[in-house]
Amino acid sequence: MSSTKAYAAQSATVPLAPWTIDRRAPNPHDIQIQILFCGVCHSDIHTARGEWAGTVYPCVPGHEIVGRITAVGDHVKKFKVGDLAAVGCMVDSCRECDNCKEGLEQYCLNGNVGTYNSQQKDGSGNTYGGYSKSIVVHEDFVLTISDKLPLEGIAPLLCAGITTYSPLRHWKVGKGTKCAVLGLGGLGHMGVKLAVSFGADVTMLSHTASKQKDAERLGAHHFALTSDPETVKSLAKSFDFILNTVSAPHDYNVYLGMLKTNGIMVCVGAPPAPAQVPAFNLIGNRRSLAGSLIGGIPETQEMLDYCAKHGIVSDVEVIAMKDINEAYERMMKGDVRYRFVIDMATL
Ligand code: NAP
Ligand code: ZN
Ligand code: ZN
Repeated sequence: MSSTKAYAAQSATVPLAPWTIDRRAPNPHDIQIQILFCGVCHSDIHTARGEWAGTVYPCVPGHEIVGRITAVGDHVKKFKVGDLAAVGCMVDSCRECDNCKEGLEQYCLNGNVGTYNSQQKDGSGNTYGGYSKSIVVHEDFVLTISDKLPLEGIAPLLCAGITTYSPLRHWKVGKGTKCAVLGLGGLGHMGVKLAVSFGADVTMLSHTASKQKDAERLGAHHFALTSDPETVKSLAKSFDFILNTVSAPHDYNVYLGMLKTNGIMVCVGAPPAPAQVPAFNLIGNRRSLAGSLIGGIPETQEMLDYCAKHGIVSDVEVIAMKDINEAYERMMKGDVRYRFVIDMATL
C-alpha cells in the first residue's frame, strides 16, 4: 500500500478538500501511474454532489487521467516504466460476459468497475479517481497515448472524447449525415470536432449566444441559438442525428421535433431528473430516442489512435488542484472553454 495525496468530497454539500488515500502495491498485472493531468467532467460534479443516486463518501472523482508509469507488475508485457499511459472511466469488469468478450466492457453484464465511486472486485472497497497523485490499474484497462500531442489536451479524450466518438461511430455519422450537437461544453466540443472530422454536416445547437464564434472555430458548419423560438421553429425536421450532451434537465421534445423522418437523438448527457416524452413525438416520424455510455477499451484505444493521427485534442483551461471548487461553480454557469484540466503537479 502507498499513501497518496488526493482531493475528496466528504459529503454532497461540502466543497472538495485535501485527503489521503491508500493505493495498492502493483499486483503481477498492474500498472502504477503517476498522474500528470486529470480532466474535470460534469459527471464528477453530479457524483460529488450526490445528484445521481449512489455516491459513497468520501468520493475522489476524476476519470480523464494521463500520466507516466512508475512501476509495473511482474507479468506486464505491454507497458514499461517511463511510458506515458492513460486511464478512462473504467478500471475493471468481469471480462467473461458476452459484452466484455466483444470489447463492450462499459456494458459488462455483471457491472463494470468505474474509476471512481465503484466497488473493487477484490472486496477492497470503493474506487478513487484521478484527483490524486497516482493510481494503480490492471493493464487491461490502461491505454496508450501519443507523445506528440499536449498531454493536458489528451486527458479529456478519455471521457469526453470516447463518449462522443462511440455513438457517432455506432450510428455511422459521416459524409451525408445532417448532424447536430446539442450543448457546447466538454462533451459537445469534442462531439463537434469528431463529427466534422468524420465528414458530417454539423450544426451546433447551443443556448449561449456568445459561443457562436467558438463553434465555428471548432469546425461547426452552422450555429443555432436554441433559446430563440423562431430559430427552433425553423429547424423543424432538419437533422438525421442529434447528439444530446446537455447536463441539466431540459425538454427533449423540442429537439425530437428537429429530427427528420427516421432521425435519431442519442442522449449522452445525464440530467439528474427524468424527461417526459409523449409517444406521438416518436411515432409520427418513426423517430428514435437512444442513449450511449462512454466506450469500451478497444474502441477507446481506437479513438486515441484516431485523434493522434488527426491531431485532435481537447480545448482546455489548466487549473491548480486547489481551484477545483471554483471550476465546478464555473461549469455550472457554462463558463468553461471547453474543459478544465487539473495539473497534478499542483497537488
Ligand atoms: P459541461 O461541460 O458542463 O457541458 C454541458 C453543456 O450543456 C453546457 O455547456 C451547456 O451548453 C449545456 N447546458 C447546461 N445547462 C443547460 C440548460 N439548463 N439548458 C440547456 N443547455 C444547458 O458538461 P460535460 O462534461 O460535457 O457533460 C455533459 C453531460 O454528459 C453531463 O450530464 C455528464 O454527466 C454526461 N456524461 C455522460 C457520459 C456518458 O457516458 N453518457 C459520459 C460523460 C459525461 P450550451 O451553453 O452550449 O447550451
Ligand atoms: Zn466523464
Ligand atoms: Zn462482463
